[in-house]
Amino acid sequence: MELKKNQEITLKIDDLGNNGEGIGHVDGYALFVKDALPGETIRARIMKCKKKYGFARMMEVLECSDSGRVKPKCPVARQCGGCTLQHLSYEKQLAYKEKKVKDCLVRIGGLDAEKVEWLPILAMETPWQYRNKAQFPVRMQRDDSGVLRPVAGFYAGRTHSIIPVTDCAIQHPSMKGLLEAVLTWMQEQHVPAYDEVSHRGLVRHIYIRRAYHTNQIMVCLVINGRQISGDLQRTLIENLTGIQGMTSIFLNINTERTNVILGKEMLLLWGQEYIEDRIGEISYHISPQSFYQVNPVQTEKLYQTALEFAGLTGEETVWDLYCGIGTISLFLAKNAKKVYGVEIVPEAIQNAKENARLNGIDNAEFFCGAAEEVVPKLAEELAVARNLTGEEGNEAENETEKMANLADVVVVDPPRKGCDGVLLDTIVKMAPAKIVYVSCDPGTLARDVKFLGEKGYEVRKVRACDMFGQGGHVESVCLLHRIDS
Ligand code: SAH
Repeated sequence: MELKKNQEITLKIDDLGNNGEGIGHVDGYALFVKDALPGETIRARIMKCKKKYGFARMMEVLECSDSGRVKPKCPVARQCGGCTLQHLSYEKQLAYKEKKVKDCLVRIGGLDAEKVEWLPILAMETPWQYRNKAQFPVRMQRDDSGVLRPVAGFYAGRTHSIIPVTDCAIQHPSMKGLLEAVLTWMQEQHVPAYDEVSHRGLVRHIYIRRAYHTNQIMVCLVINGRQISGDLQRTLIENLTGIQGMTSIFLNINTERTNVILGKEMLLLWGQEYIEDRIGEISYHISPQSFYQVNPVQTEKLYQTALEFAGLTGEETVWDLYCGIGTISLFLAKNAKKVYGVEIVPEAIQNAKENARLNGIDNAEFFCGAAEEVVPKLAEELAVARNLTGEEGNEAENETEKMANLADVVVVDPPRKGCDGVLLDTIVKMAPAKIVYVSCDPGTLARDVKFLGEKGYEVRKVRACDMFGQGGHVESVCLLHRIDS
């Protein structure tokens, strides 16, 4: 069937896309429809046709069988891009995420589904109010009575105007009061919000982090300027330090015309350089530039799964690549002989080193740099050192043997784009018995697993973990074994 713009068709939705949109098919041609759900048959209007897929608008639900449609809790869920699955029951969200991981690993990764142990997804007990981090844009906007005020919220569609919201349904409830305290200060002190068009004004974003177990709070104002006056500093500190848990107040300098939220420079205005939180029994210092998982309760379950998959006895050398502030490294260190952590952000590595000391862990060592550069170099150095001491007997004859047994377990937890090819090559040379792959994108996980499969690694266990209730992102942990081990 030839589809044309504005044509109306009846469409059965059979899948969900990465951004929570429904997907239906006409003679094998995929159509993406925002707000439609699998199980629904809808009247849709074609909006745009590309070669391999197109977009349609949902006009009406004609029939519905067990689609799991629910009324979104948040009144602005539809306009806000944040929660892409609020209109889907939590049970169905979980089923979708579990299926997504499996489908990617089978279709892209080439796994034989029968040979893998698929453990049930780790669900959230309450999939609301879980986020420990907020980054809200700030703008000047007229309120209903025409008064120009600073507002924080989210961008409406693809525009640059903001829909004011401070009580986001997935944020920890304390975020609302914190955002409002900053907005009140701006209004009282006549501090202008940033304006993208003129590149004028001061406050661009309000960035907040809250530690789940200690209730320590960090507030950081991202400003289009190098500093704020002494008076403004004093009043800001006065307004915020009255809030229970306030631990750090930062300014971040971002004077570029850019969509990137944080600039490079951080100025501490008040308090300490980091907040402290716990995961399981380990305490962590977290600086504002460091990555830290946004869902504290699920993070513990995620790391516990990584620990179980690693199956440590206390004798192993473990490498934790893309280690952030050393969260997984230190979580595993007590059950390992030695842990090496590698991470690209200097502040995160500084936190990781402090965190080892803080917890009295002396068998973890951390290295800063791109994993694909640091790991080959470090492995080479360790291999040379080992050969010199003759620890492993005969000198290795080739590259592969040289690096073998430098690691018993390698954990990787890369960003969405997955592992770098050079890094994967090096891991294969190091030939660990197990690889524990923690992934926030099943597509790139599947791609990397396929590569490792061709090099002698087999997936044994997979478990998804819901870190992002109401959102479409999917986290999972995958255990690979070297086939001959
Ligand atoms: N395992 C950590 C962090 C995972 S997020 C945790 O659970 O908290 C991914 C991390 O990879 C981030 O800290 C990011 O800064 C880091 N990163 C991104 N690219 C990298 C690279 N090429 N080499 C090393 N680390 C990198």
